[in-house]
Amino acid sequence: MRPGKGPLAVRVRLAPDDEGLAPGFELTEAGTQKRLAVYVTKKNPDEVPGIAALGPDPMAESFTVEALKRIVGGKRTQIKGLLRDQKVIAGIGNAYSDEVLHAAKMSPFKIAATLTDAQLADLHEAIVTTLRDAVERAHGLAAKDLKAEKKSGLRVHNRAGQPCDVCGDTIREVSFADSSLQYCPTCQTGGKPLADRRLSKLLK
Ligand SMILES: [Zn+2]
Repeated sequence: MRPGKGPLAVRVRLAPDDEGLAPGFELTEAGTQKRLAVYVTKKNPDEVPGIAALGPDPMAESFTVEALKRIVGGKRTQIKGLLRDQKVIAGIGNAYSDEVLHAAKMSPFKIAATLTDAQLADLHEAIVTTLRDAVERAHGLAAKDLKAEKKSGLRVHNRAGQPCDVCGDTIREVSFADSSLQYCPTCQTGGKPLADRRLSKLLK
């Protein structure tokens, strides 16, 4: 299937059920680059390489503060990149990593290995509550309504220039080649704007 500009990436309809309602599912991918994958398998899902490579499910009972500590501990990587890496933790993308870091009052550029136990506990709490809220809001919605519902629940992602709901500061943005992140300076970076390399390159 050729990826389009709309959010719908995959629609699966195998056969109607007893009540004549079509079964199956719809998946959305809001990015312009469609990177979503769906596997149909008779095997144990863990035997599918694309699934076996995924990090732990942050909604699972086993995703404790200790589990998070094992995952991010010692990594000399910015926390934002780590959170949206599906091989590190499954299911958190660009939008929810922004939301999680805002909820945890943490800079997206924070180096994972420097997190204290208290910060790890805050981050864990932020991951679990942010995702749980998002799942509750999305429950039962049709694919066409998901994007609007997701957008209405976001506090920093894609809201650059708007006031932060928590402190009123203006939400800022850092742009990369194919994505951008948003954050609140007062809530997350001690009031200091983060360096935006692309912007400074343009200004030179
Ligand atoms: Zn704020």
